[in-house]
Amino acid sequence: MIPQNLNDIQAALLAGTTTMTAIVEAYLTEIEKTRAYNAYIEVFTEELREAAKQLDHKIQNQPDDLAPLFGAVVSIKDNFCYKDHLVTSGSKILADFKSPFSATVVKRLLAADALIIGRTNCDELSMGSTCETSYYGPTKNAIDPERIPGGSSGGAAVSVALNTCLIAIGSDTGGSIRQPAAFNGVVGYKPTYGAIPRWGLVAYSSSLDTIGFIAKGVEDISAALAVVSGPDDYDSTALPDPLPQTLSSGSPETKPKLAFSASLLKNENLDANIKAATQTYLARLEQAGFSVEAIDFEYEDYFIPTYYILATAEASSNLSRFDGIRYGHRTEKPVTDYRDLIKLSRTEGFGKEVKKRIMLGTYVLSESAYDAYFKQAQQVRTLIKEEVDGVLQKYDYLLMPTSTTLPWKLGAIKDPIQVYLSDLCTILANLCGHPAVSIPVYTKADDFPLGIQLIAHSNQDFNLLNFASQLVEQQL
Ligand code: GLN
Repeated sequence: MIPQNLNDIQAALLAGTTTMTAIVEAYLTEIEKTRAYNAYIEVFTEELREAAKQLDHKIQNQPDDLAPLFGAVVSIKDNFCYKDHLVTSGSKILADFKSPFSATVVKRLLAADALIIGRTNCDELSMGSTCETSYYGPTKNAIDPERIPGGSSGGAAVSVALNTCLIAIGSDTGGSIRQPAAFNGVVGYKPTYGAIPRWGLVAYSSSLDTIGFIAKGVEDISAALAVVSGPDDYDSTALPDPLPQTLSSGSPETKPKLAFSASLLKNENLDANIKAATQTYLARLEQAGFSVEAIDFEYEDYFIPTYYILATAEASSNLSRFDGIRYGHRTEKPVTDYRDLIKLSRTEGFGKEVKKRIMLGTYVLSESAYDAYFKQAQQVRTLIKEEVDGVLQKYDYLLMPTSTTLPWKLGAIKDPIQVYLSDLCTILANLCGHPAVSIPVYTKADDFPLGIQLIAHSNQDFNLLNFASQLVEQQL
């Protein structure tokens, strides 16, 4: 039996009641048992065993040299570069690409003595909310394998929910960590924009992309965050300082002030069962003595269009590097012109959803559409951010459901717009750059858990995680 959180794992390792080798073997057994879920694209079995052996040696012989994450086994979403390992981002375009370097976040986790177990499945190039657009086939929901696991970091959430690792790294551009976490009953966190350097992450939409974590316990996410946040010479958008770790003072009786969006609860895209469960949860918080006040978002109708204009525009630019010449898939068809080589390689390498987004993004950046779409979306993004900043000046946390729906059956929704609309609650934190966490909440004993999302002001990540962990502890 693997201890369920980092503290217990470390205590057991130091007490000698278990070894890293035994823990790793237990995870590998779970992976074998749950292959049908398709959570992993690749498992690094032999090198993991070797790393576990070395850590056991260190625990026995140099315990004083152990770094903060010793004992943590981490899965990495398949869009993080890890030196000498394949990184495909769930796409044929990168199917044979081996990275010559490691992402900053990967380097920092390894330096903190974490072990990496494998690459998890995701929507192609992180575009999607269902994990169904992966070149490697869909992943299944850990609670109900007939349902989608959410996306794009679906494999990451399922890897944690199925006990095949302690922590998963994912990326979150518009909800890709929080929504799958919610769908699989685990915790998902995206940081303040720039708090965790993006060097070595396969880019989707650079002004929205963030790197974050999925775990069962909030404390394990805080422990991982503490070692990865901080400036990076390779990422000019990384914040100049690590996130402040001092928790906000104030007496223990002072409860944080919460706001929830009344307009969002009335939104026609929100499922009735999510609305009801959220209302039950709000009532529970009030009973526990929290002040929870209603606010309205003036620009709510613009969240989705703004996000999808900006995300696709940036994606179309970022994805131009996949040309079949420098790296990635290259067509084997005979060509005489380099333009045909690029065209055919990209046609063969990208899936349908990615192609659609490249076309949409290219269109909104074109001369005739730039002012009407791209520029406007940037301006509306500023208005949305100003509105949310105003709310977070008056309240400590903004609370809302993580997803507008419960996970639907695999293959059930064919209309892509329907899927885009389900991102309504998650994209806000990315558009504003604020940190957000999704925690699982049970409002009915026999139901899927409800993902409740808390958003805090930028740089308040540790306070946010601390508050989330209090809510979980009090079983609220
Ligand atoms: N579902 C959103 C999209 O498809 C968000 C994806 C993400 O956060 N990577 O763009």
